[in-house]
Amino acid sequence: MSTDYDSSDERYELFIGGKPTPSESGEQIPVTDPSTSKPFETVAAGSSADIDRALKSAREAFSDWRGIKPVDRGRVLQRMANRMHAEKKELAELLTRENGKPISQSKTGIEVGARYFEYYAGTADKVQGETIPLGSEYLDYTLREPLGVTGHIVPWNFPVSLFARTVAPALATGNAVVVKPAEQTPLTAVELGRLLHDAGVPAGAVNVVPGYGIEAGAALSEHEGVDGVAFTGSVPTGREVAAAAARTLTPVHIEAGGKNPIVVYPDADLERAIDQTMISIFTRNAGQVCSAGDGLLLHEDIHDEFCERLVSRVGKLTVGAGLEDPDVGALVSETQYEKVTGYIDVGIEEVGEPLCGGTASDRSSSDGYFVKPTIFDGVERDMRIAQEEIFGPILSVLTFGDEQEALEIANETDYGLVAGIFTRNLNRAHRFARDVVAGQVFINEWFAGGVETSFGGYRQSGFGREKGMEALRTFTTTKNVCANIDSMSSVDRR
Ligand code: NAD
Repeated sequence: MSTDYDSSDERYELFIGGKPTPSESGEQIPVTDPSTSKPFETVAAGSSADIDRALKSAREAFSDWRGIKPVDRGRVLQRMANRMHAEKKELAELLTRENGKPISQSKTGIEVGARYFEYYAGTADKVQGETIPLGSEYLDYTLREPLGVTGHIVPWNFPVSLFARTVAPALATGNAVVVKPAEQTPLTAVELGRLLHDAGVPAGAVNVVPGYGIEAGAALSEHEGVDGVAFTGSVPTGREVAAAAARTLTPVHIEAGGKNPIVVYPDADLERAIDQTMISIFTRNAGQVCSAGDGLLLHEDIHDEFCERLVSRVGKLTVGAGLEDPDVGALVSETQYEKVTGYIDVGIEEVGEPLCGGTASDRSSSDGYFVKPTIFDGVERDMRIAQEEIFGPILSVLTFGDEQEALEIANETDYGLVAGIFTRNLNRAHRFARDVVAGQVFINEWFAGGVETSFGGYRQSGFGREKGMEALRTFTTTKNVCANIDSMSSVDRR
């Protein structure tokens, strides 16, 4: 694996048909280290012609892969998990270089990715149909079949675990896959393609085509040769992908953005609520997380104390280059840096100076995309920083007086991905879980649950569910077989 950019180095290619493959156009995409803003590697830029080749290759390999006994497919996926563990150090370094996240979080990212392959390895031989009672003259049963060739469009915030999150269940259920990673973070995806092939996935059953979204991504979502599309990314792109897939009536599921409320009551364990708030918005991937807790709803009785303690903790966070393992790494790209610092300007306009942060980091000599953890207090419900996904280390604090008001604020964004409540009153916690519009609800916790728990959104956060056993449904379709076993002639009965 090469991680130092040099024009004479071997460059990253597409991974099609079980081998590194140059793009048809020969064009390259520079891959930038967010901690320096300098390119350190290049990758072949896939176009619609390359997506076409990858889909053909997947189609040819599909029957081979599907034909492998489920238990043996599972063993291949388990070998993939083992290989990821064996190459964890190198993969984590590459992930930090392309994404900017602290190296300890990259190592966790590789472990989570491996865990997806391990989990779905164990499910490959448990995708079962049903028998349906229609009366004694019938035998009716269902077969759970793979969709066929599935397309996977992956964002840059968790390039390894989000690759694994949809590819592992798709492969476990017998699909052949074509993956389009984000243009900012394509290198680990190409490595995962190679590792899957080494683990025993037949040539062509896994293909990785880096490229720009408007070219390679669009080609994958509108292609007639794809039988299902798994999209993870922003709401506007999700709409385009869903519209493109609709033209060919291709099943699609959309995992999009969020604006996720954390509600804290006076009876909560406040130290725990502060710890979890820190993780939810600052120290996990610099807040570049779809399920980041970016709207903090504090009961008016604890507002002042909570803010004081939180600001003091945030002041101790380190911001820096991912390989130095700070608490908060660089944002992924200049575009993301401009977007997030733009929201700091919006916040200052809407509520005035923040309680802390509010500027780029002091590391001015490094040119990296660093932003200080920032807290805006006194945020009103209808403000942009209360309603829009910022996707960076920026927290908005709102105040509420009672349960009804907390629920109204939590439910009035366009999103519905994740919500959390901190309280010792379990009746109140479960009332909130029942009434809040969110695909996952945390009680006295944030980011709980691993690969086993289902995940997905309501409203603009998307539709369809990933993770856990639910993903096996996402990547299969059901065939019903209905036989009349009393219709045979007397000859047949002899
Ligand atoms: P994005 O929508 O810009 O890009 C996501 C992927 O789509 C990339 O691979 C990109 O190249 C591709 N793409 C871009 N334009 C396309 C097009 N026209 N057709 C097809 N593909 C196209 O999103 P992003 O900025 O990379 O990721 C951040 C967003 O992802 C945030 O909104 C975040 O909330 C969301 N996200 C959601 C989840 C979830 O599980 N719900 C997880 C992670 C990230």
